[in-house]
Amino acid sequence: MRWTPGNRGDIEDMRGGGGGMGMVPLGIGGFILLAVLSMFTGVNFFSLLGGGGAGPSGATGTSGPVTSTPAEEHEADLAGAVARDVQQTWAGILGGRYEETKVVLFRDQIQSACGFAQSATGPFYCPSDHKVYLDLGFFDELRQRFGAPGEFAQAYVLAHEFGHHVQNLTGTEAKMRQLARADPSEANPLSVRLELQADCYAGVWGHAAAQPGRAAQGKVELDPGDTEYGLRAAAAIGDDRLQKLATGRVMPEKFTHGTSEQRVSWFKRGLDSGDPGACNTFADVH
Ligand SMILES: [Zn+2]
Repeated sequence: MRWTPGNRGDIEDMRGGGGGMGMVPLGIGGFILLAVLSMFTGVNFFSLLGGGGAGPSGATGTSGPVTSTPAEEHEADLAGAVARDVQQTWAGILGGRYEETKVVLFRDQIQSACGFAQSATGPFYCPSDHKVYLDLGFFDELRQRFGAPGEFAQAYVLAHEFGHHVQNLTGTEAKMRQLARADPSEANPLSVRLELQADCYAGVWGHAAAQPGRAAQGKVELDPGDTEYGLRAAAAIGDDRLQKLATGRVMPEKFTHGTSEQRVSWFKRGLDSGDPGACNTFADVH
Protein backbone atom coordinates (compact mmCIF):
# COMPACT_ATOMS: atom_id res chain seq x y z
CA MET A 1 0.00 0.00 0.00
CA ARG A 2 1.39 3.39 -0.97
CA TRP A 3 0.67 6.46 1.15
CA THR A 4 2.29 9.65 2.36
CA PRO A 5 3.09 10.00 6.07
CA GLY A 6 2.81 13.22 8.04
CA ASN A 7 -0.87 14.10 7.86
CA ARG A 8 -2.48 13.70 11.26
CA GLY A 9 -5.21 16.30 10.86
CA ASP A 10 -7.86 13.62 11.41
CA ILE A 11 -6.19 12.25 14.55
CA GLU A 12 -6.88 13.17 18.15
CA ASP A 13 -3.86 11.87 20.02
CA MET A 14 -4.87 10.79 23.52
CA ARG A 15 -2.07 8.26 23.95
CA GLY A 16 -0.50 10.43 26.64
CA GLY A 17 -3.71 10.35 28.65
CA GLY A 18 -5.40 7.45 30.32
CA GLY A 19 -7.13 6.50 33.51
CA GLY A 20 -4.45 7.17 36.08
CA MET A 21 -4.70 7.23 39.84
CA GLY A 22 -5.40 10.93 40.20
CA MET A 23 -1.74 11.84 40.45
CA VAL A 24 -2.12 14.95 38.31
CA PRO A 25 -1.71 18.08 40.45
CA LEU A 26 -4.75 20.09 39.45
CA GLY A 27 -4.60 23.80 40.20
CA ILE A 28 -7.89 25.67 40.42
CA GLY A 29 -7.31 26.78 36.82
CA GLY A 30 -6.96 23.19 35.74
CA PHE A 31 -10.08 22.29 37.66
CA ILE A 32 -12.12 24.94 35.89
CA LEU A 33 -10.66 23.98 32.52
CA LEU A 34 -11.66 20.37 33.06
CA ALA A 35 -15.11 21.38 34.21
CA VAL A 36 -15.59 23.47 31.07
CA LEU A 37 -14.26 20.68 28.84
CA SER A 38 -16.59 18.20 30.50
CA MET A 39 -19.55 20.50 29.96
CA PHE A 40 -18.88 21.14 26.31
CA THR A 41 -18.07 17.64 25.26
CA GLY A 42 -20.32 15.61 27.53
CA VAL A 43 -17.25 13.57 28.44
CA ASN A 44 -16.39 13.53 32.12
CA PHE A 45 -12.73 14.46 31.98
CA PHE A 46 -12.42 14.09 35.75
CA SER A 47 -12.96 10.39 35.41
CA LEU A 48 -9.92 10.27 33.13
CA LEU A 49 -7.82 11.45 36.02
CA GLY A 50 -8.93 9.54 39.03
CA GLY A 51 -10.32 6.30 40.27
CA GLY A 52 -10.09 4.31 37.07
CA GLY A 53 -7.03 2.37 38.14
CA ALA A 54 -3.65 2.98 36.58
CA GLY A 55 -2.95 1.44 33.21
CA PRO A 56 0.34 -0.38 32.76
CA SER A 57 1.88 2.84 31.52
CA GLY A 58 0.62 4.76 34.54
CA ALA A 59 -0.04 7.70 32.26
CA THR A 60 -2.23 10.50 33.52
CA GLY A 61 -3.78 13.59 32.04
CA THR A 62 -5.66 14.06 28.80
CA SER A 63 -2.87 15.14 26.51
CA GLY A 64 0.39 14.34 28.26
CA PRO A 65 3.62 13.71 26.38
CA VAL A 66 3.62 10.56 24.29
CA THR A 67 6.50 8.15 24.63
CA SER A 68 6.52 6.15 21.47
CA THR A 69 8.68 4.16 19.07
CA PRO A 70 9.36 4.94 15.40
CA ALA A 71 7.31 1.87 14.51
CA GLU A 72 4.33 3.15 16.48
CA GLU A 73 4.65 6.63 14.98
CA HIS A 74 4.60 5.01 11.55
CA GLU A 75 1.32 3.34 12.50
CA ALA A 76 -0.08 6.66 13.77
CA ASP A 77 0.85 8.21 10.42
CA LEU A 78 -0.82 5.33 8.62
CA ALA A 79 -3.99 5.85 10.66
CA GLY A 80 -3.88 9.56 9.74
CA ALA A 81 -3.42 8.89 6.03
CA VAL A 82 -6.14 6.23 5.90
CA ALA A 83 -8.60 8.32 7.93
CA ARG A 84 -8.13 11.27 5.55
CA ASP A 85 -8.56 9.08 2.50
CA VAL A 86 -11.62 7.23 3.80
CA GLN A 87 -13.31 10.51 4.78
CA GLN A 88 -12.55 12.11 1.41
CA THR A 89 -14.00 9.08 -0.31
CA TRP A 90 -17.25 9.18 1.68
CA ALA A 91 -17.54 12.94 1.29
CA GLY A 92 -17.37 12.28 -2.46
CA ILE A 93 -20.10 9.63 -2.25
CA LEU A 94 -22.47 11.26 0.24
CA GLY A 95 -21.77 14.90 -0.59
CA GLY A 96 -23.26 17.28 1.97
CA ARG A 97 -24.61 14.41 4.03
CA TYR A 98 -21.08 13.46 5.09
CA GLU A 99 -19.77 14.86 8.37
CA GLU A 100 -16.04 14.87 9.05
CA THR A 101 -14.95 13.14 12.24
CA LYS A 102 -11.77 12.13 14.10
CA VAL A 103 -9.85 9.03 15.05
CA VAL A 104 -8.98 9.10 18.75
CA LEU A 105 -5.74 7.27 19.45
CA PHE A 106 -5.52 5.92 22.98
CA ARG A 107 -3.48 3.53 25.02
CA ASP A 108 -4.78 0.85 27.34
CA GLN A 109 -8.04 2.61 28.25
CA ILE A 110 -10.18 5.59 27.41
CA GLN A 111 -13.25 7.39 28.65
CA SER A 112 -15.38 7.94 25.55
CA ALA A 113 -18.84 9.47 25.26
CA CYS A 114 -19.96 5.83 25.00
CA GLY A 115 -18.40 4.95 28.34
CA PHE A 116 -15.15 3.57 29.64
CA ALA A 117 -13.33 1.29 27.21
CA GLN A 118 -10.24 -0.84 27.39
CA SER A 119 -7.96 -1.83 24.55
CA ALA A 120 -9.14 -5.43 24.80
CA THR A 121 -12.45 -4.23 23.29
CA GLY A 122 -10.62 -3.55 20.04
CA PRO A 123 -11.18 -0.48 17.86
CA PHE A 124 -14.70 0.91 18.08
CA TYR A 125 -17.00 3.65 16.86
CA CYS A 126 -18.96 5.73 19.36
CA PRO A 127 -22.28 6.90 17.87
CA SER A 128 -22.71 9.53 20.62
CA ASP A 129 -19.61 11.60 19.79
CA HIS A 130 -19.23 10.29 16.20
CA LYS A 131 -15.59 9.35 16.78
CA VAL A 132 -13.52 6.29 15.94
CA TYR A 133 -11.39 4.95 18.82
CA LEU A 134 -8.19 3.02 18.18
CA ASP A 135 -5.37 1.64 20.30
CA LEU A 136 -2.50 1.14 17.86
CA GLY A 137 -1.62 -2.00 19.82
CA PHE A 138 -4.50 -3.63 17.94
CA PHE A 139 -2.46 -3.47 14.72
CA ASP A 140 0.21 -5.62 16.38
CA GLU A 141 -2.44 -7.98 17.67
CA LEU A 142 -3.90 -8.24 14.20
CA ARG A 143 -0.52 -9.27 12.87
CA GLN A 144 0.64 -11.52 15.69
CA ARG A 145 -2.43 -13.02 17.31
CA PHE A 146 -4.78 -13.11 14.33
CA GLY A 147 -2.16 -13.79 11.68
CA ALA A 148 -3.31 -10.86 9.52
CA PRO A 149 -0.27 -8.78 8.51
CA GLY A 150 -0.11 -5.97 5.98
CA GLU A 151 -0.98 -2.29 6.00
CA PHE A 152 -4.20 -2.86 4.11
CA ALA A 153 -5.32 -5.19 6.92
CA GLN A 154 -4.91 -2.27 9.30
CA ALA A 155 -6.57 0.10 6.86
CA TYR A 156 -9.54 -2.28 6.52
CA VAL A 157 -10.12 -2.22 10.28
CA LEU A 158 -10.16 1.59 10.30
CA ALA A 159 -12.35 1.79 7.20
CA HIS A 160 -14.78 -0.64 8.89
CA GLU A 161 -15.14 1.76 11.84
CA PHE A 162 -15.79 4.64 9.44
CA GLY A 163 -18.44 2.39 7.94
CA HIS A 164 -20.26 2.63 11.28
CA HIS A 165 -19.94 6.41 11.08
CA VAL A 166 -21.66 6.31 7.68
CA GLN A 167 -24.43 4.12 9.18
CA ASN A 168 -24.83 6.71 11.91
CA LEU A 169 -25.09 9.58 9.41
CA THR A 170 -27.55 7.77 7.14
CA GLY A 171 -29.79 6.79 10.07
CA THR A 172 -29.34 3.03 9.54
CA GLU A 173 -27.79 2.58 12.97
CA ALA A 174 -30.65 4.38 14.78
CA LYS A 175 -33.25 2.41 12.84
CA MET A 176 -31.63 -0.91 13.72
CA ARG A 177 -31.30 0.07 17.35
CA GLN A 178 -35.02 0.81 17.41
CA LEU A 179 -35.83 -2.56 15.86
CA ALA A 180 -33.59 -4.32 18.38
CA ARG A 181 -35.34 -2.55 21.25
CA ALA A 182 -38.72 -3.63 19.93
CA ASP A 183 -37.59 -7.25 19.70
CA PRO A 184 -34.50 -8.00 21.82
CA SER A 185 -34.22 -11.50 20.36
CA GLU A 186 -33.31 -9.79 17.07
CA ALA A 187 -30.50 -7.75 18.63
CA ASN A 188 -27.67 -10.11 17.68
CA PRO A 189 -28.84 -10.87 14.12
CA LEU A 190 -29.32 -7.12 13.52
CA SER A 191 -25.85 -6.44 14.90
CA VAL A 192 -24.41 -8.97 12.45
CA ARG A 193 -26.11 -7.15 9.57
CA LEU A 194 -24.72 -3.79 10.73
CA GLU A 195 -21.22 -5.24 11.01
CA LEU A 196 -21.36 -6.91 7.61
CA GLN A 197 -22.54 -3.66 6.06
CA ALA A 198 -19.59 -1.86 7.71
CA ASP A 199 -17.32 -4.49 6.14
CA CYS A 200 -18.90 -3.84 2.75
CA TYR A 201 -18.46 -0.08 3.24
CA ALA A 202 -14.79 -0.72 4.06
CA GLY A 203 -14.64 -2.50 0.70
CA VAL A 204 -16.23 0.50 -1.03
CA TRP A 205 -13.29 2.58 0.18
CA GLY A 206 -10.85 -0.20 -0.85
CA HIS A 207 -12.32 -0.05 -4.36
CA ALA A 208 -11.64 3.68 -4.53
CA ALA A 209 -8.13 3.23 -3.12
CA ALA A 210 -7.34 0.63 -5.78
CA GLN A 211 -7.64 3.15 -8.62
CA PRO A 212 -4.25 3.82 -10.23
CA GLY A 213 -2.57 7.20 -10.06
CA ARG A 214 -3.74 8.06 -6.54
CA ALA A 215 -0.32 7.91 -4.87
CA ALA A 216 0.89 10.67 -7.17
CA GLN A 217 -1.87 12.87 -5.73
CA GLY A 218 -0.75 12.14 -2.17
CA LYS A 219 -3.61 9.71 -1.60
CA VAL A 220 -3.58 6.10 -0.47
CA GLU A 221 -3.08 3.68 -3.35
CA LEU A 222 -3.35 -0.08 -3.13
CA ASP A 223 -0.77 -2.22 -4.83
CA PRO A 224 -1.74 -5.42 -6.61
CA GLY A 225 -2.08 -8.12 -3.97
CA ASP A 226 -2.98 -5.72 -1.15
CA THR A 227 -6.61 -6.77 -1.14
CA GLU A 228 -5.47 -10.25 -0.09
CA TYR A 229 -4.22 -8.79 3.20
CA GLY A 230 -7.56 -7.12 3.83
CA LEU A 231 -9.51 -10.26 3.03
CA ARG A 232 -7.27 -12.27 5.31
CA ALA A 233 -7.99 -9.82 8.14
CA ALA A 234 -11.74 -10.03 7.52
CA ALA A 235 -11.48 -13.80 7.74
CA ALA A 236 -9.33 -13.61 10.87
CA ILE A 237 -11.83 -11.62 12.92
CA GLY A 238 -15.02 -13.50 12.06
CA ASP A 239 -17.11 -14.42 15.11
CA ASP A 240 -16.70 -18.14 14.51
CA ARG A 241 -12.93 -17.88 14.46
CA LEU A 242 -12.76 -15.55 17.44
CA GLN A 243 -15.04 -17.80 19.49
CA LYS A 244 -13.03 -20.86 18.62
CA LEU A 245 -9.86 -19.03 19.61
CA ALA A 246 -11.36 -17.93 22.92
CA THR A 247 -13.49 -20.88 23.98
CA GLY A 248 -12.70 -23.74 21.63
CA ARG A 249 -16.24 -23.86 20.29
CA VAL A 250 -18.57 -21.98 17.98
CA MET A 251 -21.90 -20.55 19.23
CA PRO A 252 -23.80 -19.05 16.26
CA GLU A 253 -26.57 -17.64 18.50
CA LYS A 254 -23.96 -15.35 20.07
CA PHE A 255 -22.62 -14.00 16.79
CA THR A 256 -22.51 -10.21 16.66
CA HIS A 257 -20.20 -9.62 13.68
CA GLY A 258 -20.79 -12.53 11.30
CA THR A 259 -18.72 -15.55 10.33
CA SER A 260 -15.36 -15.28 8.61
CA GLU A 261 -16.99 -16.36 5.36
CA GLN A 262 -19.72 -13.72 5.65
CA ARG A 263 -17.24 -10.97 6.50
CA VAL A 264 -15.01 -11.82 3.55
CA SER A 265 -17.97 -12.06 1.21
CA TRP A 266 -19.44 -8.63 2.12
CA PHE A 267 -16.05 -6.94 2.19
CA LYS A 268 -15.45 -8.35 -1.28
CA ARG A 269 -18.82 -7.13 -2.49
CA GLY A 270 -17.80 -3.57 -1.59
CA LEU A 271 -14.32 -4.03 -3.03
CA ASP A 272 -15.60 -5.33 -6.35
CA SER A 273 -18.44 -2.86 -6.86
CA GLY A 274 -17.28 0.32 -5.11
CA ASP A 275 -21.00 0.95 -4.69
CA PRO A 276 -22.62 1.45 -1.25
CA GLY A 277 -25.87 0.34 -2.87
CA ALA A 278 -24.35 -3.15 -3.11
CA CYS A 279 -24.09 -3.19 0.70
CA ASN A 280 -27.72 -3.74 1.61
CA THR A 281 -27.37 -6.40 4.28
CA PHE A 282 -30.90 -5.52 5.43
CA ALA A 283 -32.70 -6.41 2.23
CA ASP A 284 -35.11 -8.77 4.03
CA VAL A 285 -35.59 -6.70 7.21
CA HIS A 286 -38.66 -4.47 7.44
ZN1 LIG B 1 -17.92 -3.02 13.71
